[in-house]
Amino acid sequence: ETPAAANFLRPIVQSDLDAGKHAKIVTRFPPEPNGYLHIGHAKSICLNFGLAEEFGGECNLRFDDTNPAKEDQEYIDAIKRDVEWLGFKWAGQERYASDYFEQLHDWAVHLINTGKAFVCDLSAEQAKEYRGSLSEPGRNSPWRDRSVEENLDLFARMRAGEFPDGARALRAKIDMASPNMNLRDPILYRIRHAHHHQTGNAWCIYPSYDFTHGQSDAIEGVTHSICTLEFEDHRPLYEWFLANLPVPCAPRQYEFARLNLNYTITSKRKLKQLVDEKHVEGWDDPRMSTLSGYRRRGYTPASLRNFCDMIGVNRAGGVVDIGMLEFAIREDLDANAPRAMCVLRPLKVVITNYPEGRIEDLALPRHPKQDMGVRVLPFSRELYIDRDDYMESPPKGYKRLEPGGEVRLRGSYVIRADETVRDAGGNIVELRCSYDQNTLGKNPEGRKVKGVIHWVPAEGSVECEVRLYDRLFRSANPEKAPEESEGQGGSFLDNINPESLQVLRGCRAEPSLAQVQAEERFQFEREGYFCVDLKDSRPGVPVFNRTVTLRDSWGQ
Ligand code: ATP
Ligand code: MG
Ligand code: MG
Repeated sequence: ETPAAANFLRPIVQSDLDAGKHAKIVTRFPPEPNGYLHIGHAKSICLNFGLAEEFGGECNLRFDDTNPAKEDQEYIDAIKRDVEWLGFKWAGQERYASDYFEQLHDWAVHLINTGKAFVCDLSAEQAKEYRGSLSEPGRNSPWRDRSVEENLDLFARMRAGEFPDGARALRAKIDMASPNMNLRDPILYRIRHAHHHQTGNAWCIYPSYDFTHGQSDAIEGVTHSICTLEFEDHRPLYEWFLANLPVPCAPRQYEFARLNLNYTITSKRKLKQLVDEKHVEGWDDPRMSTLSGYRRRGYTPASLRNFCDMIGVNRAGGVVDIGMLEFAIREDLDANAPRAMCVLRPLKVVITNYPEGRIEDLALPRHPKQDMGVRVLPFSRELYIDRDDYMESPPKGYKRLEPGGEVRLRGSYVIRADETVRDAGGNIVELRCSYDQNTLGKNPEGRKVKGVIHWVPAEGSVECEVRLYDRLFRSANPEKAPEESEGQGGSFLDNINPESLQVLRGCRAEPSLAQVQAEERFQFEREGYFCVDLKDSRPGVPVFNRTVTLRDSWGQ
């Protein structure tokens, strides 16, 4: 395995433990259930669960569910499934920020009572204007000096549902002149008459992300609250709440650089757009950068975890080459996937000098290095090779089959192409060949055979569907509209690769694949790594998804 890259949080945790700051560490992974997890989330999952595992601590799974309009139970279920699939176990039951709504509400009341929060009647638009800008200090809201009694009364009535959405908000009283915009009297509660997937209609006011996150960490006893760099400027606010509320402990926030991967979208909003507008078949389409997409594509949990180890954790951004991710899955499948043969574009071959009715069972190892036993290929008079392995007038150096030429059938005999049979349109429908009976497991005498091609027997091979996937985006930075469409309403959708999926029907897999199970993975010799589709494969009628090619053939 490729060695792990540095992770700057490891020494921080180690020294906190050495100093006796914590008996054990607690981390958390806090997704908002408003979409499926993507490869960027895998980095955060591996980091949070990985640190807890390495240092004998615990990691919570907490749904950051303060925005009910965009959230859904389907997303909660998918997120739990994906985290488990990656191989991690959260401590106890999954948690929800909404579990803490009552406590958060009481803490909001506490801030009102201590003169640190007020009910503000500015509209969203006015509030924005009062906020100022980076170059200009904000102005105090005209509602900032309301009495504690009036604030308590209005906040209670907000909760009771007396006001429409947006009519009022509860804000912290911090500093409208702060150079950090997050400290300019940030919003604590908004009015939203919305049904919530966990709390139903119990609430019509919802806490903001900032008012929820740190306190939820504190309630759970989180020691190291790790988030991406966009939240660096929120850290002073995170700490302000902890300092001004009677919280049970004070977690520390650390930030790391988010994962950006070329040729790949890592934004839930854009992934959702791909699904909603049907550019893909769903969140788990094998071309999607979601964990459930990679799963269906045939990626293993180990390969994604290794990838996350390989990229490391630091505070400097940058774009990771997708070749690293492909390297990680190839490395895993090369070591662990059994070999098999599957002919994607079958061309019938008749061995004219092979006795009719005779069958020889040839045993081939399932793996070249690992002992996985053998699989049996019955050799007889009729078989299939790939159309691409026969050429009438091949270029120089061609190592496959040509008129009068010889090639070895993998694990079997050397054959020679003698004759073609054509249909009325002149298309080759059959190849008539002869075999050299002295070439099983040994080279022919006096001549050198250059090529080895794959094949399957006509009898007993399994008809199947094969889906060849390629990158969903043809540009390295798909988030950016292509130059020719920029300024003309172009978007990332213009970067979609129109050839990202090729479906081949009537392919033929070797007989040992008659009973494959969903998610079984193989190397199809000479073709790449393939996985039995999780959704569409049926007993006796398998569907194979190409996970990755054997070598990087991008751009060739
Ligand atoms: P998106 O922008 O795709 O909606 P998000 O950050 O809003 O992502 P959350 O559900 O809030 O999505 O993310 C849960 C956790 O995963 C957060 O701690 C977040 O920082 C982390 N995360 C999200 N995207 C990435 C990424 N590309 N690389 C690393 N961590 C990420
Ligand atoms: Mg978020
Ligand atoms: Mg988001």
